[in-house]
Amino acid sequence: MRYAILSDIHGNLEALTAVMEKCRDLEIDKYIFLGDVVGYNGNPKECMDIIRSLDIAGAVKGNHDEYAANNDDVLESFNPHAKAAVLWTKSQLSLDDRAWLTNLPMRQTIKGAFVTIVHSTLDSPEAWGYIFDEHHAADNFAYQFTQLCFCGHSHVPVGFCKKPIAAQATRQIEELRAWTDPATPEMPRDFSVFDSVSVDLQTGYKYLLNVGSIGQPRNKDPRASFAVYDSNDKNVTRYRVPYDIAATQARIREVGLPERLAERLATGS
Ligand code: ZN
Repeated sequence: MRYAILSDIHGNLEALTAVMEKCRDLEIDKYIFLGDVVGYNGNPKECMDIIRSLDIAGAVKGNHDEYAANNDDVLESFNPHAKAAVLWTKSQLSLDDRAWLTNLPMRQTIKGAFVTIVHSTLDSPEAWGYIFDEHHAADNFAYQFTQLCFCGHSHVPVGFCKKPIAAQATRQIEELRAWTDPATPEMPRDFSVFDSVSVDLQTGYKYLLNVGSIGQPRNKDPRASFAVYDSNDKNVTRYRVPYDIAATQARIREVGLPERLAERLATGS
């Protein structure tokens, strides 16, 4: 079975469309959604319609899904720009869309796939914390009872593995450098040389993988990021997909969302 894992789409229709085309090429069987279908970009309704039409094996709620699904009183702590953007997103969704978002679980274990999914962290998903280093990963692994866990939220692809006790390693939890982008800040980036990275799953090891963001990447590579888990071959591959950024920026300006949201897409920041 081949699962595509989609996260942080954020109303970016062009990026989601490009990823859907890639998924057709890859002959995906089922889809896993890690949250934040809406927020930031200008086509929340269209992205909702696409996600809801998929053959979904599992789906969890993101913080932006919660903002759009909730009553307005949760927005009191927001700055005026952020509040205006959330209210605009809400105005684009139907009551049925908002009910669908409300009913998403905070975390989910997918039966038969040995996979747990969460938007932020398994240890306290409703606190919307971020996983950036081995310490955060350790907290998450304490609540991870499947070999694989997929998360999103930071929009930065990072991966960690937890070795079996029998490995007697000095470091039980280690970052998987191969999962993040190979380019370093000192290196000129030639995006044409890298469009996927893979991790082979070893028996007895646990893996925590952030799949990156489709709709607003933040690790200096502006291309959409998503992953495919092949449960027969026991590996996970993360893909980078170029899309029509100028069209997404034009839509942001057309509907009057903040200019900064358009600019950041070009630099992946
Ligand atoms: Zn997000």
